[in-house]
Amino acid sequence: MYSERLKSHHASQVYLKNAFVDKQSQIGYVKTLLQTKATRPRSIYIHTPYCTNLCSFCNLNRTMINSSVEDYHKLIIKQIKAVASYPYIQSKEFDSIYFGGGTPTVLSAKQWEQILEVMHSLLPISKTAEISVETSITELTGDRLEIFGIMGVNRLSVGVQTFVDRGRKLLKRRGSSNEVISKIKKVVEMGFENTNIDLIYNYPNQTMQELEFDIKTIKELNIAGLSYYSLILYEGSMLGKLIEDGTIENLPDIDAEKLMFDKVYDELLDNGFELLELTKIVRKNRDSYKYIQVKNRAGDCLALGNGAGGRLGNYLYYNGPMMNKVPKMLLPISPMGKVVTEYYNVITKIIGQIQFGYISFNQLDAEINLKMHEHARSFIEELLRNRLVVKEGEKYRLTKEGVFWGNNICSDVTKLLVEFLNEEAGR
Ligand code: SF4
Repeated sequence: MYSERLKSHHASQVYLKNAFVDKQSQIGYVKTLLQTKATRPRSIYIHTPYCTNLCSFCNLNRTMINSSVEDYHKLIIKQIKAVASYPYIQSKEFDSIYFGGGTPTVLSAKQWEQILEVMHSLLPISKTAEISVETSITELTGDRLEIFGIMGVNRLSVGVQTFVDRGRKLLKRRGSSNEVISKIKKVVEMGFENTNIDLIYNYPNQTMQELEFDIKTIKELNIAGLSYYSLILYEGSMLGKLIEDGTIENLPDIDAEKLMFDKVYDELLDNGFELLELTKIVRKNRDSYKYIQVKNRAGDCLALGNGAGGRLGNYLYYNGPMMNKVPKMLLPISPMGKVVTEYYNVITKIIGQIQFGYISFNQLDAEINLKMHEHARSFIEELLRNRLVVKEGEKYRLTKEGVFWGNNICSDVTKLLVEFLNEEAGR
């Protein structure tokens, strides 16, 4: 059914870019919203756009560390203070907080202590909140870990990418294979049981033996789970340029990529792991990744920090990357925002379902009183014929092949339903 694989859910977002925008005034909407009570599941995302070292494959919103990082915690604290007193913010507990980047652990232990103290004292953080920090192995120092332990950080996401020294060099990751393995062991033994890693497969010249070494190491380490990605070659990344000028061989073809995907999927699912998302495999009952659950269900996400994107109610916003002070607006937001309609939320939930590995229309059809399932019927039949999904009660569960092509399915379903709902909106 497909020949060219989409590797990220961002392809689906293209169809949502200008769809289902509510024309009402953004400021008016936000002003009213902030005086109401929150009802949705909710999370906080805090972005730190700095890295100590730039990896060769990366195109994320980050910059090389510089002296401005020394005051970065002050910006986050100002932003927390700017929003903390609104009824909407205080009316419901936040059950997941995610510090992403960049590499948030470029911040010192002292900076972390100050941010976490203010966050806990001014925002309603649930006692069972998942507090997650993205990090790299070289910044997991004793003083930072100590503060994390004291201040409730209970989930680590370590950007390992590969345990193989050759691959680490190619991807420009710092630290040797041995250093990475022993640091992860130590961190888990210290009590950070919900430690996860990122794994990249299908990088240039990667052999099956190298991938097998990564999988064997994952099975041996007592980590909670992993996000696994087939390497995406971004235009303008260091790796992209090296491939373009012929210094490095291009990525393996789709058949080789599929063999590698199968290897990761089969080996781990046969050994006590289960699929949580298209690109996330976890040890049973070790990581529920609450943050992504909120996001995939169109919940609130209070986004703080330069370059962070989030949503409150139906207001979607993005903090500009160069923002260095809290604007005079009600929220720490840039003018890059929009108010969306319920149809947008429904499509967000459909995309979220597919990221979780299934499609189900019942509840979402009821939410908007329409029959999306009828409109999608022939597409679902095609998925069934091609064994990309199987029927499981009222759901369609993605098979292993379906997971491999999951973002293609996600993109097609999004396109189909955006067209349908646009027609309905125009009636
Ligand atoms: S992969 Fe992570 S650590 Fe590497 S440059 Fe990108 S954001 Fe920084």
